[in-house]
Amino acid sequence: IPNQQRRKNDAKPATLQPFVHEAIKENEPEKMPPPSTARGPYNTFVCLSLQFLEASRPNQKFYEMIQDFRETLEITPLSATDLIEPQRICVCVRKRPLNKQEVNKKEIDVVSVPGKGALLVHEPKQKVDLTKYLDNQVFHFDYSFDETATNELVYKFTAKPLVQSIFEGGMATCFAYGQTGSGKTHTMGGDFAGKQQNSAKGIYALAAQDVFAYLNHRRYANLDLSAYVSFFEIYNGKVYDLLHKKAKLRVLEDDRQQVQVVGLEEVCVSSAEENVTSPCQTSANANSSRSHAILQIVLRRNDRATTLHGKFSLVDLAGNERGTDVSSNDRSTLVETAEINRSLLALKECIRSLGKNSDHIPFRMSTLTKVLRDSFIGEKSRTCMIAMVSPGMASCEYTMNTLRYANRAGDLVQAMDQIS
Ligand code: ADP
Ligand code: MG
Repeated sequence: IPNQQRRKNDAKPATLQPFVHEAIKENEPEKMPPPSTARGPYNTFVCLSLQFLEASRPNQKFYEMIQDFRETLEITPLSATDLIEPQRICVCVRKRPLNKQEVNKKEIDVVSVPGKGALLVHEPKQKVDLTKYLDNQVFHFDYSFDETATNELVYKFTAKPLVQSIFEGGMATCFAYGQTGSGKTHTMGGDFAGKQQNSAKGIYALAAQDVFAYLNHRRYANLDLSAYVSFFEIYNGKVYDLLHKKAKLRVLEDDRQQVQVVGLEEVCVSSAEENVTSPCQTSANANSSRSHAILQIVLRRNDRATTLHGKFSLVDLAGNERGTDVSSNDRSTLVETAEINRSLLALKECIRSLGKNSDHIPFRMSTLTKVLRDSFIGEKSRTCMIAMVSPGMASCEYTMNTLRYANRAGDLVQAMDQIS
């Protein structure tokens, strides 16, 4: 990114260093008003008005600094016609727009998506002498989606390339990761119009549509496959079947290390509309953001109904906010959070092992990784993680945590540059 920096009015590349200095210079500590005895009534009025303005937009200075920074960015938005390179592990990031409440609160947007897989966080900071400055950090992913990206566009670059792999006999997984409120369910289950979720526009439904298209495709017709769907939730390490009265199910591992969710309902489906339900109303616990929801589309041969041909797991993960962020101190919340942290840590480790082709997959660390075990092994396993971030300054710390996690999961070289 630094090399691509361009000033708007002169086409010369501008390095970031002078720019940052300039920004800091502009932000010398606010000049103190003269002592009140030396002030005329007009001056007093101006000072009071300025103070009032400052108070009504507490982060105005940061807002302006970010706007100035954005002027220098060269933006290359992702387009639907861009090339998609198939890869074993794909890690992407999606920024949601500021919502109404955030706009009303005059929350400032601290995330920029210049494109080409890059994402910037302008972290507002203050020196000990109260000088305000931005700590601008760049993260690189396979793809980065800005706030204008639709679910269809996100689907096209993330889950869609995986659909074919399950017809080739592979295992595919697609994860939505991020803090509560960052857009995981919106992306996986579909966008909301008021309280109604438009489940036809979620990755679940878009993937199901493509599965049915492939089932009818002559290339795969001779495989004689049927598609089955299961939908379950992992809450506090326990599995609940969302297609069967939220029944609590056991996870067992046989002596060949095959993991089974005993009694999980699998519904044979013949069209996309039939059974891909909206997940929002079906959660087993009151707060669905504390559980992982997993939709699995399984392909089986019709001649041997028990033989698995391929499997696609689409996972709406629990919110990744830390234990210390949870205001409640009660024991059940702490246990719940510890379990979520453990499963997300296990997931990261399993994805890394998959990336390194390692024989040792630490899947036993959590129920989530146990039930997804077969997705982390074998030549034909493919994974995509979509890290969701909220744009607001108030979410900055969570956003940084999400981005660091996603970087490590993908084990990307040149993961992060500090550019100020
Ligand atoms: P999560 O599942 O991560 O907790 P949600 O998907 O429920 O978050 O999103 C929180 C709110 O933000 C919802 O009201 C949702 O409609 C909205 N939202 C999320 N992502 C987007 C987006 N890309 N565009 C518009 N609104 C979004
Ligand atoms: Mg959700």
